[in-house]
Amino acid sequence: MGSYSQRFAYRCRNGHEGSLPVWLVVDGEEQPDLLRRAAEGEFTPPRCPECGAEAEVSGQLSLLVHRPGKHPEMLFGAATPRDPDRLREQAQLSMMMLNQGRAQPVGSDGIVVPYELLAVMAQRDMNADADALEADSFTALSPELQRYRDWLGGYAAERFAQATKLVLLSLLQADSPGDLLKIIAANPILLDRRVDTLLGHMAEAAEQDGQPQMAYIARARRDLLRQAREQGVDQALGPDTPTPQVHAAGPVDGEAEESAEPPQPDFAEEATLTPSVGSALVAMAGYPVGDRTEPLSGQELRQLLTRALAEMPPDEADLAMKYLHGELVGLRDLMTLWLATALGAARP
Ligand SMILES: [Zn+2]
Repeated sequence: MGSYSQRFAYRCRNGHEGSLPVWLVVDGEEQPDLLRRAAEGEFTPPRCPECGAEAEVSGQLSLLVHRPGKHPEMLFGAATPRDPDRLREQAQLSMMMLNQGRAQPVGSDGIVVPYELLAVMAQRDMNADADALEADSFTALSPELQRYRDWLGGYAAERFAQATKLVLLSLLQADSPGDLLKIIAANPILLDRRVDTLLGHMAEAAEQDGQPQMAYIARARRDLLRQAREQGVDQALGPDTPTPQVHAAGPVDGEAEESAEPPQPDFAEEATLTPSVGSALVAMAGYPVGDRTEPLSGQELRQLLTRALAEMPPDEADLAMKYLHGELVGLRDLMTLWLATALGAARP
């Protein structure tokens, strides 16, 4: 069927009334002329056929616009705000109308937009406009374009968040400097300043979610990216960078000594640590403890951490743990964080 209109009773402020056809679906592929009229503002809101003033109609107004070749291909807007379920139903109904009789259904690429912006957006390409906005070359001379530009700012931010979502997840999951280096080198988008904000949001969300460990990693990775942006990736992740896994790195106050050797997992043998503390460190790094061959279960790790925290003398508590390049964290803080995370994960 493609385009679709329905008759509504109307009245206008000049006293005209009657019924008029209101377009609910405009298929620009089938009727380019109708799309042009939509872009000229003829349909949103509908106009009185006698005087051209806004027609007040009794009914739920919405419009689906199909614009082949533009991104996104579908725009849907509803005149009155309503709950998301009804909005979705209305959009699906309009999609059915659009696709009736089509051999190949269209419309995997669509967004909900403000009804009052449908006209100004009808023939524009949101991706091209968002590119222009990001490059500071989007000009908005009319009030409509200025309102659209405000909306476009949110669209561009959301587009950026979607584009970086997967690579941010892999960045958070990377557990060696080599992996981090590879991910950053392959995804220069990570050096965009907006990533700082996204990682900050992720850290806050993780905190509210009872995952302080994840929040900590998100902030550390954000700082690492800042460093990479300012000093270059190689500098931020130099060959002497320790792995993000924990290992003892000397007192907090002195310049931590860095070794080109890979860190040894066998902390318990680094002489002075209290045995339970050393074992906890080994377990946190994911290695089997003592004569075991498997890493500890969550419950065993929690018990070990609790014991280590109880037995830890003050000098060990202040011992700096290098977690990521440029980040020093006290041993007690680090273990408390791990315990909190392990307890959080154990909640039913
Ligand atoms: Zn009128």
